[in-house]
Amino acid sequence: SRPSYLCGLIGSGISKSLTPPLHESEGQAQGVGYVYRILDLDTLALGEDGLPRLLASAKLLGFDGLNITHPCKQAVIPLLDDLSDDARTLGAVNTVHIANGRLIGHNTDWSGFARNMDEGLGGAPTDRVVQLGAGGAGAAVAYAALTRGVLHFTIIDADATRAQLLRDSLAAMFPDRVVVSGDLSAVPAAVGQAQGLINATPLGMAQHPGMALDAELLRPDLWVADVVYRPAETELLRRARDIGARTLSGIGMAVGQAVDSFRIFTGLEPDVLRMQEHMRRL
Ligand code: NAD
Repeated sequence: SRPSYLCGLIGSGISKSLTPPLHESEGQAQGVGYVYRILDLDTLALGEDGLPRLLASAKLLGFDGLNITHPCKQAVIPLLDDLSDDARTLGAVNTVHIANGRLIGHNTDWSGFARNMDEGLGGAPTDRVVQLGAGGAGAAVAYAALTRGVLHFTIIDADATRAQLLRDSLAAMFPDRVVVSGDLSAVPAAVGQAQGLINATPLGMAQHPGMALDAELLRPDLWVADVVYRPAETELLRRARDIGARTLSGIGMAVGQAVDSFRIFTGLEPDVLRMQEHMRRL
């Protein structure tokens, strides 16, 4: 008979997530049964302390996998049987594979962004890169950039302590690279010397309009990547594209993490272009 999969997303305030239709439509296109449920802690009136119950229930009910999002990416770790090496290094899990009664944690946020870089920025220089934003998405994206070979990495956050903490953990993971941190006053000099810029702040979303740096700092030879994916083209990306710079939309990261999670949950090879098409239509 036709194989079928049961998966879900655990997090808070996720009732409008696009991940369920993204997975289900790819499952349908592959000719398998695929049901992907939203398990929203708010809707279920569960706090973060409801996470153990939710995981145990998913296992009992035969779920094949779970995606994990804010605020549970760290809290889920002690509840798992094993971790992939990169999830252990990053200290964050966004994907749990349930197989043979065991819960295995993975992190496809970083691999999704790395795939996005490979596909969208192939051949672009990556010796010196500046990243704005040192939050949860920022940690995964910085890990991806350094894994893909960035030699000199500057991490800047409006909260200088946050930037410093991420700098310290990245420097420990990549001892052969130069990783520096700074506050907002460091942006002009750092961007001036960089070949690439990554936005990992929420600026550019509808609720956070604008951009995290002065548009005057953009140059045609400075590639710009955004993690924000709604809208697909942020003000930052539009202005960079207008002056002829290479750009990379956050859509690629959002789809990339779903691609890698789908493969982990099913063992099937997802069609990346088809999933990107789905995402743009959603
Ligand atoms: P977060 O709140 O953990 O981190 C955001 C960081 O940006 C904070 O540390 C904040 O101090 C910093 N910041 C805010 N304004 C700044 C500015 N002007 N200059 C420098 N730093 C500034 O949030 P997060 O979970 O890391 O998510 C950030 C954004 O990433 C979200 O808004 C979302 O749009 C996007 N995101 C995209 C994907 C994807 O798959 N494409 C996945 C996760 C998150």
